[in-house]
Amino acid sequence: MRLSRNLIPRHYTLRLLPHVLDESEHAIVDGFVQIDVRCTKNTRQIVLNADDVRVNLESIKVYDRASRERFSVENITQDVDNQFVILHLRRKTLIKGANYVIAMNFISQLNSQEKSRGFYRLKYTEAGQPSVMALTQMEPVDARKVFPCFDEPNMKADFTIIVGRPANMISVSNMPLYKSSPVEEKPGYEWDFFHRSFSMSTYLVSIAILDGPSWLSLSDGNVKLRLWARPSLLNQTRYFLKVARKMLDFYQNYLALDFPLPKQDLIAVPNIDTAMENWGLMIFGEQFLTYENGITSSDKIEFNTLAMAHETAHQWFGNLVTLDWWAELWLNEGLATFLSYVAVDQVFPEYKMEEKFVLNEMQRVMQDDASLTSHPISQPVNQPDEIISVFDAISYKKGASILRMLNEFLGHKTFKQGLTRYLKKLEYGNAVQDDLWAAFTQQAVINKVKLPYDIKFIMQTWTHNVGYPVVTIARNYSTRTATAAQSRFLVYPGKNLSQDENDLWVIPLTFITPLSKETKLRWLPPSSRAENMTDLNVDADQWLISNVNRSGFYRVNYDERNWNLIWAQLLHDPKQIPTISRAELVDDAFHLARADLLPYRTALNLANYLRKETEYLPWRSAFDVFQYIDAMLTRMPSTYEAFKVMRLCYFENEITDGDDSTTLRLLSEATKWACRWDQKDCVEMALVVYREWMARPNDPEVLVPADLKRVITCTAVRHLNWTEWQFAWTKFQESNIQTEKSDLLNGMACTTNTSLLSTMLDWTLSSSNQENIYFHGVIKSIASESLVGRDLAFNFLKSHWGALKQRFVSDAIF
Ligand SMILES: [Zn+2]
Repeated sequence: MRLSRNLIPRHYTLRLLPHVLDESEHAIVDGFVQIDVRCTKNTRQIVLNADDVRVNLESIKVYDRASRERFSVENITQDVDNQFVILHLRRKTLIKGANYVIAMNFISQLNSQEKSRGFYRLKYTEAGQPSVMALTQMEPVDARKVFPCFDEPNMKADFTIIVGRPANMISVSNMPLYKSSPVEEKPGYEWDFFHRSFSMSTYLVSIAILDGPSWLSLSDGNVKLRLWARPSLLNQTRYFLKVARKMLDFYQNYLALDFPLPKQDLIAVPNIDTAMENWGLMIFGEQFLTYENGITSSDKIEFNTLAMAHETAHQWFGNLVTLDWWAELWLNEGLATFLSYVAVDQVFPEYKMEEKFVLNEMQRVMQDDASLTSHPISQPVNQPDEIISVFDAISYKKGASILRMLNEFLGHKTFKQGLTRYLKKLEYGNAVQDDLWAAFTQQAVINKVKLPYDIKFIMQTWTHNVGYPVVTIARNYSTRTATAAQSRFLVYPGKNLSQDENDLWVIPLTFITPLSKETKLRWLPPSSRAENMTDLNVDADQWLISNVNRSGFYRVNYDERNWNLIWAQLLHDPKQIPTISRAELVDDAFHLARADLLPYRTALNLANYLRKETEYLPWRSAFDVFQYIDAMLTRMPSTYEAFKVMRLCYFENEITDGDDSTTLRLLSEATKWACRWDQKDCVEMALVVYREWMARPNDPEVLVPADLKRVITCTAVRHLNWTEWQFAWTKFQESNIQTEKSDLLNGMACTTNTSLLSTMLDWTLSSSNQENIYFHGVIKSIASESLVGRDLAFNFLKSHWGALKQRFVSDAIF
């Protein structure tokens, strides 16, 4: 249940004193909050969100701001299901139009790391010494675990925050510090007073209490940037502090809107696997902010750069203009995800982010969204667990994909100007998706962009409908025409799935042919009828390819003759077809085959062109679909052998040369598969390199290339034995570099020795292991690298489910 809007908060004074150094497991936070509210409807109840917060009845003060007239509170009740605390007034009523002050003392919990929500403590080791820090994670519904508040994103208010912290520690919050003074009632603690914030949502309130001053700062430009990390990691964070500056500058420029706060802090937090965009105080797991030349692999650098771009985009999309309610989480997350690619593409063009978008976001979510159990981008949510469940690939990746589609058919300039229009109109407020469509519509009118339908009408078919379409194109070769028809794409179609026309899409269709590489846009209406296309201008012996560069969120199927024409072109000269389209053809063909809409023979034939492929993206798309076939065939040894042998012919030619990051990733991916399919040269190379590393482990001359460390370790432990595995384990323990540690661990998961695999699985849950962040990677690698691993991992998850749920209680928010 939602809060009523009888009382609207304007300003909070929030004073928190977390008992950071308390030895007990169940430490508390002493709190005081004073909320200035405006009454919009007469009421005798004050309803606030609170969860596991004890309000002190005697301390409550309610008074009229103008007349100072006091109201006494008779009692307090709790509504546990809705996480409400209700203050019942004695006799008198709060009157519509008046302003009131509500103040109270309370006690909330300082949670442990296992329950890393609200205000929590995190223990870690630095230079051999046990250390502690405390920080908050409020999104989406956990500010109410820290203080009683109106915990809904559209009940924005200003915050004045005061934090009590141990005298030898420091505190950071959304706004800059302006003074400190001793805490009289708790010796050894000091109060930090922070400047009043701008109007913001409760889920963005943020505080961190850190042990020891170790920070880097950059203060050129209009915003002071500081990065906080453990002293031993500080040097590794220099690179991403510079990236943070570049991203902030990019968005200020692209959006034509300055970052409004005077400073931005970034904190590198040990042992967490998330990042959070709190306004003025961004939180990252350490692995997102660290970089070590020669050791951090290129895919990790790219991933971290995207994470920085994502959280920085939220400073505008999320923090300045906030979703009105969690049902439209995609407004925050889809925009931040899409814009992170736009930003990185501009700042680091060599990363080829357009291609990576298709790979990381679109192809991934097209798999999730092809099942009957998927859900629409916008869907009603109410209870806290429903709210947490919408932080999924549909909100992030599909949301981003349909924005990319809009960017393409609207034109990049109109899209960008539309975003600025949206932000300027709604800054410091909240938005629903109709606000976004309205801003784009106004901009399209100004820029004279003509569309056959309303932007809102087009886009709602993508945000309100579940799933996405496959467009089937059937050519008539004698009349040089074709028809196009749409239906929902399902990888396992249900028996009697009725296709309601209300559930269809308005689809922007683009085409290229050998003679016309300029794409022309036409539209498929939301109808199950096949549309005739008469002006395609394509000869009977020429191919036709739709959804150029995969700009639309749909798959395309063709008649057999057109598939064969495309195949012939790919074999002859693949570069005549754009790179993203080549990857799309591979990905579509195999998914259509999986859904029984295309013979597997056609898909496998098409993939044979890879012998001539030199680009990362089509290769990667192919490897991703092979992963599925590989997993399906491993229990059928003779078929699997034949499959492996056939695929290995792809590697007959040199597939790549160059040392840019995308080529390095192709090299790493190709090596992974060649070694996995037991190609002799690959395995020999890996064993030679690994043995040399073991022989001279600390010799800087013998450096295993960062992008190959995982596959070389994997191949060595797969083909060799205990000593090789033990060597990697020792290296893991010695290393202080997160990305190297996870490469080693994931490589170690390739052993087929069951006792070593069990050792790894047990380690993930052992009490001495504080490094939760590696858990998902280890389980995933063990389950995917071998048949024995798959069974062991499955049984491990089944028998330890309770313990795992306790340990990994919180979902990752990003
Ligand atoms: Zn996000």
